[in-house]
Amino acid sequence: MKKTIRDYDLNNKKVIIRVDFNVPIKDGVITDDNRIKESLETINYAINNNAKVILLSHLGRVKTEEDKVKNTLLPVSRRLSELLGKEVTFINKTRGIEVENIINNMNPKDVVLLENTRYEDLDGEKESKNDLELGKYWASLGDIYINDAFGTSHRSHASNVGIASILPNGIGFLIEKELANLSVIDNPERPFNVILGGSKVSDKIGVIKNLVLKADHILIGGGMAFTFLKAAGLPIGKSLLDADNIEFCKEMLEEYPDKIILPIDVVCAKEINDEVYRICFINDIKDDEMGLDIGSASVKVFKDILLDSKVVVWNGPVGMFEEEKYANGTKELCNILANLDATTIIGGGDTASAAINFGYQNSFTHISTGGGASLELLEGKELPGIKVIMDK
Ligand code: AMP
Repeated sequence: MKKTIRDYDLNNKKVIIRVDFNVPIKDGVITDDNRIKESLETINYAINNNAKVILLSHLGRVKTEEDKVKNTLLPVSRRLSELLGKEVTFINKTRGIEVENIINNMNPKDVVLLENTRYEDLDGEKESKNDLELGKYWASLGDIYINDAFGTSHRSHASNVGIASILPNGIGFLIEKELANLSVIDNPERPFNVILGGSKVSDKIGVIKNLVLKADHILIGGGMAFTFLKAAGLPIGKSLLDADNIEFCKEMLEEYPDKIILPIDVVCAKEINDEVYRICFINDIKDDEMGLDIGSASVKVFKDILLDSKVVVWNGPVGMFEEEKYANGTKELCNILANLDATTIIGGGDTASAAINFGYQNSFTHISTGGGASLELLEGKELPGIKVIMDK
């Protein structure tokens, strides 16, 4: 068990919290403030326990001076202030005398937010390459370090691993919740079924290898299904193909023929933007067609398997859900899972956005906030940003 924010006396302490404020911003306006909201529990806990709260976050990538202007955390500090109902002091720097003076003059319950940690990437990628001096410098600003940025925990950066290697540390409520939910795969109630989709097999090889040993079934949809179908000797026309991984898919199908379940029909079209599309069985995709969603017969096959599940983990949309025409499979699966009497865990990234966009925000046991980080946990990997945190 990792130490958490609750394991420390925060009274009058300078507590550095690494949050994930990497929110979409268009023309200076935040278009989705969910990540800020997800951070409030930990920040409010620190405030209520009389800490001096120092917040660090990245926002986008910073490779040029223009990226700095685009990726300032200023709009985030304003929104955070509204959500907290109190003043947030924004320091438009990541280091220096002004940062130090403001922090040294903080009172308990004060909140400061430093500028985007990735401003430090402009000069030698110090943040992203976990520069030792930078980690040391940020650590010198606080007494305790709390990591609550689940979305970057699979990276070893100065603002997570760097600082945590120096200060007494713990995880915040958001990471605690992610770990509690995603660890369901360690010892799942059965039947335990997994749905995998998304575009490429290559992104999911680690997950397949790990979960095929634990799950009762792996239902495969999305673009990645076509590499499996090709490996099974079926015609896939112009559908997405991950040619380098046909052999891997063949091996999986040979070794786990009853565990890996492929679609039996697909929605296909000649071009993505064509008005005309049709549903066909998977042995009938023409050379000039591509499969863009699973069909209704496949949904039925998946549903029959899912119905008695005790645990379902889902990562990757089963169709090109951004297009209304090809969103049906993903929507149907949302609906099936929402009505199961089971623990339902939705991976971050595209699967989370699809589920939320289709109105299922509150319909599952857990929707992960981290795409890459949740994938790596499903691969059975330890995340560096969490590994570095002290055990209880
Ligand atoms: P990933 O980032 O690997 O999770 O993949 C998500 C993307 O896969 C989404 O943008 C979907 O549009 C895309 N996708 C899902 N199914 C298909 C498909 N059959 N053909 C092409 N792209 C797909």
